[in-house]
Amino acid sequence: MSTPKREGKVWLVGAGPGAADLLTLRAARAIEGAEAVLYDALVPAEIVELAPRGALRIETGKRAHRPSMSQAAINRLMVKLARRGLRVVRLKGGDPSIFGRVGEELEHLARAGVDAEVIPGVTAASAAAAQFQLPLTHRGVARRVVFATARTEGGALRGDWRYEAETTLVLYMARDSLEAIVAALREQGMPDSTRLAVVENAGRDNARLLRGSAGNAAALASAITRTAPALVIIGDVVEARQDYGSPNGLLKSVISTTVGTEIAA
Ligand code: SAH
Repeated sequence: MSTPKREGKVWLVGAGPGAADLLTLRAARAIEGAEAVLYDALVPAEIVELAPRGALRIETGKRAHRPSMSQAAINRLMVKLARRGLRVVRLKGGDPSIFGRVGEELEHLARAGVDAEVIPGVTAASAAAAQFQLPLTHRGVARRVVFATARTEGGALRGDWRYEAETTLVLYMARDSLEAIVAALREQGMPDSTRLAVVENAGRDNARLLRGSAGNAAALASAITRTAPALVIIGDVVEARQDYGSPNGLLKSVISTTVGTEIAA
């Protein structure tokens, strides 16, 4: 009697923000055991290379303004590979559950009867916060943090985020619409003195923190690198990072020279 064919499975894995050592051990083990790896453009090569030599490696793209595999094609491919009995790892930047389309992929896999598991990753906001010692919540300053996006499915801007006091607003996919977003928030009554930051390439050696205020968003926007992944962080925590453990601004200069560049707009 022949042994029944092994069932395939798909792991939806968070690769973190782009520094290989921010990968979780669970994610690394899944990749090391993979027979097929489908990876997004923001995933560093060092992480993809953890896959065994013989594993299939397929880049699915997904970087803005570049051709990438459609979501439907990615869904079909995952199912096809899993049905061949393969251990499939779908590698995504950051955390798969934060703007990572994990819900759509899980739904598709469930409909196809394919077993799936999600492995979390360090989201860009956490990496940015850690690298620049910029807390996302801070006693007396921010007791709420909102992860939001400025983009809708069709690429249009939708300003249904709200600025509220004691809140840190972290906007993903907002790099190119910073000025429009700030204008919309000012119309809702956000004061010009509200602090803004942009963190580019969070988690990587070439990270940059740019800081400004709602009143000078144009200057901040003009300093942004147009090709780097970036987060917009709005709220008083942008300032709070200077207030602790930093005699004579020492912390600030250490941060600027060791982990990234800081620019005040
Ligand atoms: N799942 C990812 C987010 C995917 S959406 C996560 O959890 O981080 C893609 C957006 O994430 C980019 O447009 C950018 O706003 C943000 N992003 C991803 N990696 C980043 C990085 N290293 N630095 C700054 N922003 C990043």
